[in-house]
Amino acid sequence: MNTQIVRELSGLRSLVAQWRASGENIGVVPTMGALHEGHLALARRARSECDRVVVTIFVNPKQFNNRDDLAKYPRTEESDATMLSPLGVDVIYVPDVGDVYPPGFSTTVHVAAVSEALEGEFRPGHFDGVATVVAKLFGMTQADRAYFGEKDYQQLLVVRRMARDLNLPVVVVGCPTVREADGLAMSSRNARLGKAERMIAPALHAAMRKAAKAVAGGTEIAEALAAARAEILGAGFSGIDYLELRDTETLAGMDEYDGPARLLAAAWLGGVRLIDNIEVEG
Ligand code: AMP
Repeated sequence: MNTQIVRELSGLRSLVAQWRASGENIGVVPTMGALHEGHLALARRARSECDRVVVTIFVNPKQFNNRDDLAKYPRTEESDATMLSPLGVDVIYVPDVGDVYPPGFSTTVHVAAVSEALEGEFRPGHFDGVATVVAKLFGMTQADRAYFGEKDYQQLLVVRRMARDLNLPVVVVGCPTVREADGLAMSSRNARLGKAERMIAPALHAAMRKAAKAVAGGTEIAEALAAARAEILGAGFSGIDYLELRDTETLAGMDEYDGPARLLAAAWLGGVRLIDNIEVEG
């Protein structure tokens, strides 16, 4: 089956209208491109659950709070298309930034509470950009199901909340984080790690696993987190934005283990900011 690359909304709309008229359901996988196995796992899951699959590639300027990060974000459309076509993806939708945000564009979707801590604190405006573009992509694709990675756990919660609050007729499906063999969570930003940094990078996940195990085994949360921080910095990371145990659903802080929890972290390795999160069982 052929994968079509569509750049115009009118083209996407007419395909969507045909699919809908035939009673087919639609899955969407929103991405910023520079695809890796993590993205492909989302596309495969969508393929197995939906009649039609649209993968969107759009480097959304509104979700970058750092101009340098936006400028350096990898853009690899040709190899992205090569990776997607064997998966049976129907459409790769690659809108132009001027079409997504035409002159006069005035709407921002802000999801309170769950977007405020963690990434929200360190990347002001980031989740407004995410929620706004995801709401638009849901409108453009009219997807029945949308696939997001747990890799960006807070983003998954923000999108779920937004879809519920706005009564959008889409099921938000969370998919497990895909990792390299050494535990490093796959990310488009990993390509920016130097050779020495790439060797250090798995220390983040290793320290998080150790801390999660310690908490599950009854160690005080503060003690387990302090040990993990020391381990991450000792391995060669230059800074930690946050390393925190939070409620799985609300992301509320936890001083003592109190039901389903998630350990979430963001740390700097050289000039690259890595994020990761894992489930913590009590
Ligand atoms: P991005 O292109 O980074 O905006 O990511 C697009 C989608 O892929 C988001 O839903 C991410 O959570 C998801 N994703 C990115 N990396 C991974 C990974 N390692 N495992 C699973 N999903 C991922």
